[in-house]
Amino acid sequence: MYSFDKYKSILVKKFEVQESSFEGALIFWIKKFGGSENNKKDFIWSIFQQVLMHIAKTAPDEVWMYAKQREVYCSMFEFLIATKRNASHTIKLINYCDLKQAEQSEFHQNVELITTKCCSECDNLDGLIMPLEEALEKEPLPHPNCTREYGCICCYGFRAARDKEGRLIPK
Ligand SMILES: [Zn+2]
Repeated sequence: MYSFDKYKSILVKKFEVQESSFEGALIFWIKKFGGSENNKKDFIWSIFQQVLMHIAKTAPDEVWMYAKQREVYCSMFEFLIATKRNASHTIKLINYCDLKQAEQSEFHQNVELITTKCCSECDNLDGLIMPLEEALEKEPLPHPNCTREYGCICCYGFRAARDKEGRLIPK
C-alpha cells in the first residue's frame, strides 16, 4: 500500500534526507507543479533520484556505492509497485548492481540465472550459467520478453569459477 508519509519516512530515516530540506523542497514542488496526490508521488521519486546522486558523489569506493545504490533501488522498486507504476527499469538497475558487486571479487565469478516461478518465458533460462564478464556485457536479466505483470523477478546467483583442479581462479 502506498502512503506519502511512509516514503517520506523511508527517505528521512533510512536514506538520511534532512527532514527540513525535504519539507522545503516539497513546498517548492507544490508551488511549481500543484499538490495533487500524483504530483506528490513524483516528488517522492525526485527525492529518490537526489539520494542516488548524493551516493554517487560521496561514495568512498565502488563496493560501497553499489551496495548503497541497491538499497535505494529496492525501495524505489517497492514504491513503483505500490503506486502501480512500471518497475522494469529499476529491476534492471538492481540486477546491474548485483553484477557490479560480484565484479569486485578478487576471483573470477560465474553467474547463474535463477528464474524460478517468474513466468514461462523466463523459465527457459533457469539454471543458465555464464562468466560474469559475459553477464555484464549482455545483462540477461530482466528477461526482455518477461510476461510477469509487474516486471521480471528473476535474479542472479554467483559462484566463484574453478580451474580443472578445483582451485579458485584469481584475476
Ligand atoms: Zn519472467
